Amino acid sequence: MAITITDLCINCDLCRPECPNQAIYEGGAEWSMAEGTGVIGTYTLMDGVVTNAVGFHSARAESVYYIVPDKCTECQGFHDEPQCAAVCPVDC
Ligand code: SF4
Ligand code: SF4
Repeated sequence: MAITITDLCINCDLCRPECPNQAIYEGGAEWSMAEGTGVIGTYTLMDGVVTNAVGFHSARAESVYYIVPDKCTECQGFHDEPQCAAVCPVDC
């Protein structure tokens, strides 16, 4: 179960650099599986769509930061708690 960012986000950019999987993107920015994950070749996303790992996809949010569920591991294997939640100043 991936973590999500709510509309209360103030776009402060504190969380994005903390994510070990580069799963967090600025609103409006396109995302890819390969960025920050080391995934290569074809990859089947949670919604069943088969994609090329280096391919870019449309932003999941436009006005606030967003987390790509396919990339978020809740920081398992890297940290004891989700780093994005730990640094967010507005707990969104
Ligand atoms: S919980 Fe961890 S892996 Fe998931 S988006 Fe936040 S920082 Fe990234
Ligand atoms: S730390 Fe919180 S308020 Fe800042 S960009 Fe991330 S989700 Fe938004």
